Amino acid sequence: MKLGMSYFGNRYVECTQQHLRKMKEMGASYVVFTFSENDFFYYKHTMQELFDVAHQMGLEVWADPWAIGGVFGGEAFSKFLLDNLDVWQVRNDGEKVPHVCLNSAKFKEFLKKLVDSIASSKADYIFWDEPHWYIPKWDDAKDESLWACRCERCQNLFEKEYGYAMPEIANDDVVRFKENSALSFFEEMTKYAKEKGLKNAVCFLPIEDDKSISIPYEKVASLDTIDVIGSDPYWYIFGKSVDDFVKPVTERMIKIGRKYSKEVQMWFQGYKVPGNKEEEMKRAVETMYNLGVRNVTVWSYNGASHMSSLRSDNPKKVNDILEEIFRDFSKR
Ligand SMILES: [Zn+2]
Repeated sequence: MKLGMSYFGNRYVECTQQHLRKMKEMGASYVVFTFSENDFFYYKHTMQELFDVAHQMGLEVWADPWAIGGVFGGEAFSKFLLDNLDVWQVRNDGEKVPHVCLNSAKFKEFLKKLVDSIASSKADYIFWDEPHWYIPKWDDAKDESLWACRCERCQNLFEKEYGYAMPEIANDDVVRFKENSALSFFEEMTKYAKEKGLKNAVCFLPIEDDKSISIPYEKVASLDTIDVIGSDPYWYIFGKSVDDFVKPVTERMIKIGRKYSKEVQMWFQGYKVPGNKEEEMKRAVETMYNLGVRNVTVWSYNGASHMSSLRSDNPKKVNDILEEIFRDFSKR
């Protein structure tokens, strides 16, 4: 069984070395390094040093373009958005929102430079984490009728393709337009990453109705350039049970994986774990394993105990159980 852990919040080589050794001893076969815009601008060479250390230890290296442009998951800020106010998504009420428009050529060029950096640092995989358009539920407004992107660029492209002005109230054509835009974004980016020698993995948000977020999971999964697909059903933060959430999301990923011959990678939640519910982590991994998943990974190393906003009620207990899980499943 292939097991991984995400790793962030530290860029000291010596400390990373110690932590990676611990991961390796526990049975991890790879590490998912977050690669934020901050890393890209200020830690480029350091990241290469960290990747080298992981490789020397026999760990595969996955690099996660973390929260880049506000269209991938992650607790990081985007300098690109600050520097380029013309590429923000525009909502149907005319407000700009801090997520880059997936049709922006300028963003794709920027992301390619970031891919170059990840590739030249010799990562094995690039991990496209929770790609999304603007999601009204995550916004303070919480108004479900709001959507993006209706920027000038998108309006022009839409009108050219559909022969009428992009409406303010989303219709099927708007959903299709956004899905096709996301698909062509992934086609271009994953092809580029592949040409640079990287394998592509994508993690879809654990949302049943992917039409509601206009990221066409099956079409993205079907791309030849994508090697691994998966999702991250973090049941504690969604307030759901392993059976009601982890199981159906995993089943769906397996179905898509089988259909397009893709390896499936599933994430389990090891942060913000509520007290006395730690054992559920074992049940989640067991569920994934029993359904046939052979690549499981946790967010995050040491249960993200170093990050106060993600810390669990009993970080030590979480970490003890993570060790148990890794020792057990790495032998299967
Ligand atoms: Zn746009």
